[in-house]
Amino acid sequence: MQFAGISVIFVTMSKKAKINQFKCKGCYYCIDVCRSGSITKSGQGNPKGYDYVVVDEAKCTGCGNCYTVCPDCCVDIIETEE
Ligand code: SF4
Ligand code: SF4
Repeated sequence: MQFAGISVIFVTMSKKAKINQFKCKGCYYCIDVCRSGSITKSGQGNPKGYDYVVVDEAKCTGCGNCYTVCPDCCVDIIETEE
């Protein structure tokens, strides 16, 4: 969009969960509280031997439930451009 020679770019921001795969201990509390079904087991072991979880960002609503429930502080909610 342009106004008097000034270009304006609209950027939509959204919040997404990011999992620290190295800290995850595979308790899966986050899977239980994710209402959008965005979190699944990776099927891979991290260096501690736990099957860590992964987030499908396309489904994540950024609600923060996983952040709240994780006992090991493995989750960050990051604001990203869509
Ligand atoms: S709640 Fe935390 S430690 Fe447990 S599976 Fe989810 S990210 Fe890993
Ligand atoms: S922020 Fe909400 S929707 Fe996204 S993965 Fe965590 S619990 Fe699921």
